[in-house]
Amino acid sequence: MAGEGEWPAIGIDLGTTYSCVAVWQNDRIEIIVNDQGNRTTPSHVAFTDKERLVGDAAKNQVDKNPTNSVFDAKRLIGRRFSDSSVQNDIKLWPFKVIEGPIDKPMIVVTYKGEEKHFAAEEISSMVLKKMREIAEAYLGTTVKNAVVTVPAYFNDSQRKATKDAGGIAGLNVMRIISEPTAAAIGYGLDKVGSGKRNVLIFDLGGGTTDVSLLTIDNGTFEVKAVAGDTHLGGEDFDNKMLKHCVKIFKRHHNENINGNARAVRRLRTACERAKRILSSAVETNIDVDSLYNGIDFSLSITRARFAELNMDLFRKSIELVEKCLTDAKMDKSEVHDVVLTGGSSRIPRVQELLQDLFDGKQLNKSINPDEAVAYGAAVQAAKMAGMGNEKIQNIVLLDVTPLSLGVKVRLDEMSVVIPRNTAIPTKMDHDYTTFFDNQTSVLVSVYEGERARTVDNNWLGEFELTRIPAAPKCVPQIKVCFEIDANGIMKVSAVEKTTGISYGITITNYKASLSTEEIHRMVLDAKKYEVEDDEHMKKAKAKEALENYAYKMRSTVTDKEIGDKVDAAGKEKIEAAIKHVIRWLNGIQHVEADEFEEKLIGLELICNPIIAKISRRQ
Ligand code: ADP
Ligand code: MG
Repeated sequence: MAGEGEWPAIGIDLGTTYSCVAVWQNDRIEIIVNDQGNRTTPSHVAFTDKERLVGDAAKNQVDKNPTNSVFDAKRLIGRRFSDSSVQNDIKLWPFKVIEGPIDKPMIVVTYKGEEKHFAAEEISSMVLKKMREIAEAYLGTTVKNAVVTVPAYFNDSQRKATKDAGGIAGLNVMRIISEPTAAAIGYGLDKVGSGKRNVLIFDLGGGTTDVSLLTIDNGTFEVKAVAGDTHLGGEDFDNKMLKHCVKIFKRHHNENINGNARAVRRLRTACERAKRILSSAVETNIDVDSLYNGIDFSLSITRARFAELNMDLFRKSIELVEKCLTDAKMDKSEVHDVVLTGGSSRIPRVQELLQDLFDGKQLNKSINPDEAVAYGAAVQAAKMAGMGNEKIQNIVLLDVTPLSLGVKVRLDEMSVVIPRNTAIPTKMDHDYTTFFDNQTSVLVSVYEGERARTVDNNWLGEFELTRIPAAPKCVPQIKVCFEIDANGIMKVSAVEKTTGISYGITITNYKASLSTEEIHRMVLDAKKYEVEDDEHMKKAKAKEALENYAYKMRSTVTDKEIGDKVDAAGKEKIEAAIKHVIRWLNGIQHVEADEFEEKLIGLELICNPIIAKISRRQ
């Protein structure tokens, strides 16, 4: 295949608040999840006495280390220190920015006890490198080539600086493209019909609103007008909710939490989570245990109340659309497509307002709005890397799997083999193993759906693979293969690798088993529960990490060789700490992921120094 040396080539949406990475693989665009299981990664970098943190880890410690936690680098990149927007932003940031050589803004932090100065390009390069690593971990190979996106209004200097940031991250930036263009490419709008198309891209992100009007003609993109607000986005909605909660807490308990950074951070995180849930559920709770002076916070909030709190801001964002149309001298009836991007455009009330403005026109939102830019960037990257097969050229016109397909593992977990929206025909496989010692057969149960548990998905069929040679659990290797032909006929087979014994079934026309309405409902349902499922998984993972560590430490100190080297006092301290954690684990009922994480850090702080001492002695 032409240009194979360029492969893999990724698409990166380097956002002000969140970044996202995607790649073309197995005939589809894949949004790559990070090490925390999240599909977008905070564009945050933090410096501590010991280490540099990027992404979720940096964002999570912001309140403990505000002056050395850097975000919003995109607001600085390619700008002069004397720029009035830079001067205004500096007033809002907890980190320090000074004037460097040739009027360049420099970010000042303390890293490992030393003062360091970083240009915005360097901070952005750290975020880009993180995105690159996320892709490398997923693809299992080094990644050199990338298409990176920037706002449509970025000038030459800002584009050049973003390209440099890619260079610093060790990437070959194949092309810098505009975010609205990327979103339009993601939807294949450059391929639809013939003649000119007017496309309005509404990007409501974390900190900014950008509205762009593009004209696409014969594969070329022209920006007709842009309008925006550099300080209007999801974080403002979080703040409104936070203010509301602080007021309620004050009313009920006569306490003002505003001076307590940790309490404010925990409440803000809970508000953001609730906000995300309210995009799919109509009501949710904001719960923070022991928020302030041992008092719990609990508030039920509806989607309508959330919208009311933010209505002025929602309206402001819609006014920008009108402004953009006026600037482009275009009537709204002339707009062919309206595309949603930016995480905050998931908010139903915002979508309604926008749809009303366009007299009920259907909005383009089938690609997750906060992923649409990275999606399009990855399409562009694949085209440029010479992945020139028909599928990538005609990406939107493809027949795709409407729902994810997979098998049941453990008790009722859905393990996806073919993800939703994969272009067919396709063939994908996944390796599994046994759950018990000497297990000689496995039941392969096939499901479709988007939920984390198979009970919530659709059962399609099952078969048993027998005569697996007896072996300890997790030793046998069983490859399960899903193959769907162009007619939508799916074959599922399993083979035990050492003996080659295999068995399979054909699920005829599985697509016909659901009507379009059912698919629509399931996808909506899944979206609704996605947040809950994610929380569930996150919690389970955090709990597992804590348990694993506690049991590992227990076996370390009881181990003859290592344990004997720990002095009695150290051993007693570790054992007491483990006992405390296990007792806590046994007693808990409703616990959030971050509490498990906090407990783990606490336990590590006790155990690691003691264990480190003996490894130094060895
Ligand atoms: P950026 O503006 O940095 O490009 P995004 O487009 O990813 O970033 O937008 C991030 C914002 O989207 C955050 O404020 C986040 O809280 C918000 N967001 C993400 N998912 C949802 C959702 N389901 N409902 C409402 N807001 C959301
Ligand atoms: Mg964005």
